[in-house]
Amino acid sequence: MGKIEREKKTIKLMVEIYCKKKHDMKNGELCEECQELLEYAHKRLSYCKFGENKSTCSRCPIHCYKKDMKEKVKEVMKFSGPRLVIYNPIELIRHALNK
Ligand code: SF4
Ligand SMILES: [Zn+2]
Repeated sequence: MGKIEREKKTIKLMVEIYCKKKHDMKNGELCEECQELLEYAHKRLSYCKFGENKSTCSRCPIHCYKKDMKEKVKEVMKFSGPRLVIYNPIELIRHALNK
């Protein structure tokens, strides 16, 4: 699996954890706002100009996210990053290694 695909999976997991805890959604379901955020993040990754050579978005010099989405994704990562260890340790390790 390429880096972009892997990051898409990780962000999906993070948004799902966030939405479940914060917006009371069931496993695997997303509220409208989180669905929109996830689609946006996936789109950014698909069009990332660095492609497979990208570093993590949080360290990206461009940061192609628009302001409100950037805030939202930051909040999701802050909340769900540490929780990945409970829900998906493998993804957490990957996430840490990617940093
Ligand atoms: S923030 Fe940077 S690394 Fe992340 S998708 Fe946008 S251009 Fe690519
Ligand atoms: Zn939600």
